[in-house]
Amino acid sequence: MARPVVAIVGRPNVGKSTIFNRLIGDKLAIVEDKPGITRDRIYGISDWNGKSFSVIDTGGIEVDGEDFILRSIRVQAELAIEEADVIIFMCEAKSGLTNADEEVAQILFRSGKPIVLAINKVDNMKRAEDIYEFYSLGIGDPIGISGSHGTGVGDLLDAVVEKLPDKVDEEYDDDVIRVALIGRPNVGKSSLVNAILGEERVIVSDVAGTTRDAIDTPFERDGQKYVLIDTAGMRKRGKVYESTEKYSVMRAMRAIERADVVLVVINGQEGIIDQDKHIAGYAHDAGKASIFVVNKWDVVEKDDKTMQHFENTIRDHFLFMTYAPVVFLSALTKQRLQKLLPVVQHVAQQHALRITTHLVNDVVSDAVAINPPPTDKGRRLRINYVTQVAVKPPTIVVFVNDPSLMHFSYERYLENKIRAAFNFEGTPIRLFTRRKS
Ligand code: GDP
Ligand code: GDP
Repeated sequence: MARPVVAIVGRPNVGKSTIFNRLIGDKLAIVEDKPGITRDRIYGISDWNGKSFSVIDTGGIEVDGEDFILRSIRVQAELAIEEADVIIFMCEAKSGLTNADEEVAQILFRSGKPIVLAINKVDNMKRAEDIYEFYSLGIGDPIGISGSHGTGVGDLLDAVVEKLPDKVDEEYDDDVIRVALIGRPNVGKSSLVNAILGEERVIVSDVAGTTRDAIDTPFERDGQKYVLIDTAGMRKRGKVYESTEKYSVMRAMRAIERADVVLVVINGQEGIIDQDKHIAGYAHDAGKASIFVVNKWDVVEKDDKTMQHFENTIRDHFLFMTYAPVVFLSALTKQRLQKLLPVVQHVAQQHALRITTHLVNDVVSDAVAINPPPTDKGRRLRINYVTQVAVKPPTIVVFVNDPSLMHFSYERYLENKIRAAFNFEGTPIRLFTRRKS
């Protein structure tokens, strides 16, 4: 199930990033304890009333020149219209309604996208009256919030969740492996798509995806069906702001959500930069299988150690994704290209792997026997049983006497033992601890 995307749009300084942090709250803290991931709050995953969605703050996508505020939020609004399911349009009570607000409200209104109008900086009762003037925007009831105090955030979340799309039908049969190629501009994503499909330039037999105007490209190889997700998104370019990181991450989010396997394409000639990490981090958080594809291997000067060195560098940069295999290739010369699809097939299987309760319990019992859980103030964690509750990604619940006694390091230890036994190559696994005595 692809998680819906919610975008926050509004003038600089209305409080978008403050509210963004409140919306994702402790979720950010959870992912941050994974070493090796640099977070500068590009996106977050939020849960409210049992619904999960991604939130992105479009602020910071800026266009220089005259009228830059207006032009910047226009760009943000257009991006949000293309990529988001629900848009939070944020204004502020302090400065009141501005011309820029009115203009952007019109663009949003014309798009027909569900919009939630949030008026921030409603810090006190007096300000509460200031929200009425925003009715004149004609995009619905303004919701007064205060990023400083946290008031109204629950109402805002209620309004967002109410507008989220209902579950969309699965677009492809279960036996089709959905593959997304992500990476910075110019790493060679489109070239790789063409190389995989074995065609010179044009991608034929595109089919329209059902969730939006994405173009997916299905194909079959050695009896296995695949679909390359959002090949159109990859071809859209030439806009100045595409090189901004937020923009490319946001473009990639939706494709990642719809995929089983994410190919994180890296330019072998340039090495790894932070932007690569953010995009890969999203694939990890979204629970997708991943493969690092080091492209342009033809132009890298090599000796017998170059590959190992490059792989070590990847491991250093992506400590949170040690499970992801690395494939070196050249989309241009097609050198080593034939290695890719078998790895895709393999990690897709691992992503969907289901281990019987009996087997996983054996492994955990052995792990506990070798290294018993530590005690905490004289109390010891007791593991009653373990069971896999979901696939894609494999999700395992550990039932214990008291979840507060489970430490992060012990959870890591169990995860490592489970990986050692069942491999799960290419896929993150989720481990949850629940009470059951
Ligand atoms: P952005 O540019 O839209 O992302 O805005 P920020 O989140 O960076 O906030 C801009 C400024 O407004 C900061 O100084 C915030 O501390 C302040 N701010 C955010 N929310 C509130 C609020 O509810 N009330 C008041 N008074 N200030 C706020
Ligand atoms: P995208 O923006 O990620 O889709 O990248 P493109 O597929 O458009 O490729 C960007 C540039 O890199 C183009 O000039 C390609 O010809 C070049 N390129 C792509 N793959 C390779 C490769 O494997 N080796 C070399 N030398 N150049 C490549």
